[in-house]
Amino acid sequence: DESDWAAVADEFGEDGDGGNAPQPVLAVVGRPNVGKSTLVNRILGRREAVVQDIPGVTRDRVAYDALWSGRRFTVLDTGGWEPGLEGLPGAIAAQAEYAMTHADAVVVVVDATVGATSTDEAVAKVLRRSKKPVILVANKVDDERLLADTAALWSLGLGEPFPVSALHGRNSGDLLDAILAALPETPKENFGPTGGPRRVALVGKPNVGKSSLLNRLTGENRAVVDSVAGTTVDPVDSLVELDGQVWRFVDTAGLRKRVNFASGTEYYASLRTKAAIESAEVAIVLLDAAEPIAEQDLRVLSMVVDSGRACVLAFNKWDLVDEERRHQLDKELDRGLVRVPWAERVNVSALTGRSVRKLAPALRTALDSWDKRVSTGQLNSWLSDLVAATPPPVRGGKQPKILFATQAQTRPPTIVLFTSGFLEAGYRRFVERKFREEFGFVGSPVRISVRVRE
Ligand code: GDP
Ligand code: GDP
Repeated sequence: DESDWAAVADEFGEDGDGGNAPQPVLAVVGRPNVGKSTLVNRILGRREAVVQDIPGVTRDRVAYDALWSGRRFTVLDTGGWEPGLEGLPGAIAAQAEYAMTHADAVVVVVDATVGATSTDEAVAKVLRRSKKPVILVANKVDDERLLADTAALWSLGLGEPFPVSALHGRNSGDLLDAILAALPETPKENFGPTGGPRRVALVGKPNVGKSSLLNRLTGENRAVVDSVAGTTVDPVDSLVELDGQVWRFVDTAGLRKRVNFASGTEYYASLRTKAAIESAEVAIVLLDAAEPIAEQDLRVLSMVVDSGRACVLAFNKWDLVDEERRHQLDKELDRGLVRVPWAERVNVSALTGRSVRKLAPALRTALDSWDKRVSTGQLNSWLSDLVAATPPPVRGGKQPKILFATQAQTRPPTIVLFTSGFLEAGYRRFVERKFREEFGFVGSPVRISVRVRE
């Protein structure tokens, strides 16, 4: 199925990391029965059931989302590693190696009631070489009497043992605080403007019908407040009720005072468009259905996609579209809209009011996708099937492996793939397309970034 992704390989060229730092990764290691799974459940707060038996998901790279004190991180559960030919100490040491390579911090769990075994010592030996933070957890310390056993674990040379009872939760809050302190900082979740009406930018090249559409929307529907004083100088936004919901159309002053545009150059118009997009959550990109898609339309579209905003395409002046033009337009769309094949299209007429009421549902769909989060468990079980069916292309004789993935951010949804090597842009596009097919992200950009772990 190689041609499947190769077809889109050179469509967009390289894209960068998108400036989105992925959430940090914590690995939990230790020999069997020390309580790793119990501890992982405790860390997750049982927000996500530990999935043991999804076919195609090897237990060695099962990853889960965790949230503590408002910070998200990924927990990598290496618990399912079966001892191979090299025996238990070898297998667990290999598990520790893996954790050190792929995580930002490692929790090593030891059963305090048993004490340090030779296997624990083998793990400790590997972890002592780690440049990443290591937290030694003395588990099954169900009560005070076991604190002496905890102290004995200093012998592992991994610093102070942290006594917890994963089963009863004893000390687990303190442990989570220590884990957060050990993990690298990530930017706080970009929840964007919270509360209040969702923010919409109405954008498009001059004369496409922006002010006509705004008038139609505010005329047909109740303009809740005609203008909102954003500054003392200028009323900037309009609150409009559409389909039973109030929306904030940003920077509508710019649309109403056409004089600004008449005197300004295209450069200033484009600055203003950019500012409107940046201050919105979703953009209605207005196109003139009666005219060929122009360079200027594509520039506006690119601004929306690059700024990571959700997007609805509205083809205006549909009253002027006849059979012939419609046919032409279909052809133009394939080429013109390559960057936004995922955007919903609505054919409207500001003049007649045709289909204008379809805009609100389309805005809602786009924002739902923009806000949506796929759990790490779901993401990885889907991804392992995908990668098994269509592995990343070999590069320089090496087969890059996708180790696991997390959705690091919403608004827009950002997927981080942790890999053992470089992934071609074409393959990332392939992953994005399949991801959309599986999880149904309509109307929102989806970013795929790759973090190579050496
Ligand atoms: P894993 O093989 O390391 O993942 O270990 P599990 O999480 O499956 O736990 C092994 C056994 O130890 C289970 O019977 C758990 O109920 C038990 N266990 C885990 N944590 C604790 C604890 O804090 N105290 C006690 N008393 N038992 C625990
Ligand atoms: P803006 O520069 O994007 O704000 O565009 P305007 O709203 O000022 O519209 C530019 C021109 O297109 C005006 O002459 C409008 O009357 C006309 N226009 C806007 N919408 C429609 C439409 O749906 N159908 C037709 N036939 N003309 C339209």
